[in-house]
Amino acid sequence: MGAQAKANRGGGAAVAPPLDAEAVREIVRREFGGDSGRTSVVRDPGVHAPRGMLVRVRRPQGYYAEIKLELGRVFKLRGERNDEKLVRLGWLEPHTGQTLACRACGAEFASEASRMSHGEANHTRRPTSSVKEVPLPPPSRRERTTYTEDDIAQEQALQAAASRQIQTEEEHQERRLEQEAPLYLDKTAASQK
Ligand SMILES: [Zn+2]
Repeated sequence: MGAQAKANRGGGAAVAPPLDAEAVREIVRREFGGDSGRTSVVRDPGVHAPRGMLVRVRRPQGYYAEIKLELGRVFKLRGERNDEKLVRLGWLEPHTGQTLACRACGAEFASEASRMSHGEANHTRRPTSSVKEVPLPPPSRRERTTYTEDDIAQEQALQAAASRQIQTEEEHQERRLEQEAPLYLDKTAASQK
């Protein structure tokens, strides 16, 4: 048993297997969770993330204050609580060089491609067919005032299917992120002990 634990620890191959969505969530919980009570911010001396440092988004997931983390978005660190972690784990990386501003909202980007995709996602009107729709019951049923148990069961099944679909899409999104911008797993707090 002990030998196996040792073997697992010793088998630190250079290539980490891709993470599933739950593993990523666990890391995020561990690193960013538990805001209550703990006021001390552990600074990692190996990570350079001072207030005012220019960074670009490496892993497009979530928000930095009100800034949506879109790929290639460039902004300055503001001395937020999680600055160091966001850089250490690979959500953000230092940026030098030119930036390109969005003509519509002024947000800055590290490349023309990232500025374009920001524009497409935020400033272009899309045909309604690309909007994801949650299945609704047919119109005739909405006007009814009484519902049989079958109606209710069907309604619940529809809602369950919709929420399963949302969950599956989130997991796909996290898997894609792990391939395109994997977290720096060797730099989690746990791995450094
Ligand atoms: Zn914009």
